[in-house]
Amino acid sequence: MKARTRETGRHSNYSIFALVLFASLLVLARAGQAAAQVTVFTNVRIFDGKGGSLSAPRNVLIRGNKIERISAEAIPTDRMATTTIIDGGGRTLMPGLIDVHWHAMLIRTTPSDLFGGVGYMNFLAADEAKDTLMRGFTTVRDVGGPVFDLKRAIDEGVVEGPRIYPSGAVITVTSGHGDFRTFSDLPRQIGGPLTRGEQIGAFAVADTPDEVRIRAREQLMQGASQIKLTAGGGVSSPFSPIDAVTFTPAEVQAAVEAARNWGTYVTVHAFTSEAIQQAIAAGVKCIEHGFLMDEATAKLMAEKGIWLSTQPLPEEMRTGLPVGSVQREKAEEVWPGIARTYEFARKYKIKTAFGTDVLFQPALARRHGAILTSLTRWYTPAETLIMATSTNGELLTLSGKRNPYPGKLGVVEEGALADLLLVNGDPIANIKLIEDPATNFVVIMKDGKAYKNSLR
Ligand SMILES: [Zn+2]
Repeated sequence: MKARTRETGRHSNYSIFALVLFASLLVLARAGQAAAQVTVFTNVRIFDGKGGSLSAPRNVLIRGNKIERISAEAIPTDRMATTTIIDGGGRTLMPGLIDVHWHAMLIRTTPSDLFGGVGYMNFLAADEAKDTLMRGFTTVRDVGGPVFDLKRAIDEGVVEGPRIYPSGAVITVTSGHGDFRTFSDLPRQIGGPLTRGEQIGAFAVADTPDEVRIRAREQLMQGASQIKLTAGGGVSSPFSPIDAVTFTPAEVQAAVEAARNWGTYVTVHAFTSEAIQQAIAAGVKCIEHGFLMDEATAKLMAEKGIWLSTQPLPEEMRTGLPVGSVQREKAEEVWPGIARTYEFARKYKIKTAFGTDVLFQPALARRHGAILTSLTRWYTPAETLIMATSTNGELLTLSGKRNPYPGKLGVVEEGALADLLLVNGDPIANIKLIEDPATNFVVIMKDGKAYKNSLR
């Protein structure tokens, strides 16, 4: 009996202690909340990333990294040091732009850098990442390159840049698109030493299902949010004919299994109907490019809900290749397919995402916004902007549990991540505004933090 009383007494002591602890935690949590950075945009008209027109004037409250409130009424604030009020002056507030086919490590570099120092590559890429963000692209899906360290440095605030959904090394086969080795690297031995480009994680060669599985899992181990394979030939690599189907069905399936086991997906580079159809049959969720697909394949993609991540590749990409080179010949074969692909995408209502695929051409990267606005050859300005914001944001959710930035991207709505652009004017009425971000994007915010505010 006595022992029991003592025990009850001890319990109530614990209860009081727990209560005090809980209360202190509550106070701390409140204090933490109050200290969160707050930004209020007043008098802005919103393009929400989904609808075809701007809202009436609104006020928008950002707390921490999220959009907390959107209101027609004034939003009262505490005017603390951590609060910033931005008078929008009737400008447009829109979601940050998203590019889902980007190679953050391969813009300023040259192909030969793939065999040099990765430190130098990272410096170039960091500088380019800042410019990417300053062009209003607050998120990119990186579909190949040794990008994990850059992503980490950006996320930690060491350097400025967009959110990165990394694939890591492009996985290819011997002679496939992305195999940048030379004949002196042959013969390849399974389990043998890796070439420099493979060591730094720019690309990975895999010639059996088991090798594909290992390479895919190595990318997942380093934080890949999706896996990228080259399912067919490509323009920029020297030894892959455009018509080639690079992997066997069992090899693609091995990658799909590895990705699926990690809760994410595989996207493949593919031009031809054969390469695309084989990939879809193996469980691939997204096709990059698709420029040479036929009508039946377009229908199949629409029916199965497969994503088409394609690009309005500018002429300079083709004409920049030396006349008479293998790459130029391949480009001539591919280019006419660009318009046809967009026409199929529209006709069959394929889920279509926007990307640019700028590779080794820094001058072209500076025209990032202009590549986006060139979509108006096939889409209205509103459709173009919706694709580069909410639609691209939807594609990113395919990463499931491997999504490095859980939360809504590509929309302006309560609860979404605060990646925002304040634009001088109405980009739906005049989409050309997007082409001059230095002048027209007066505020660029990512994750609730203003990286540019020229109204200060
Ligand atoms: Zn690419």
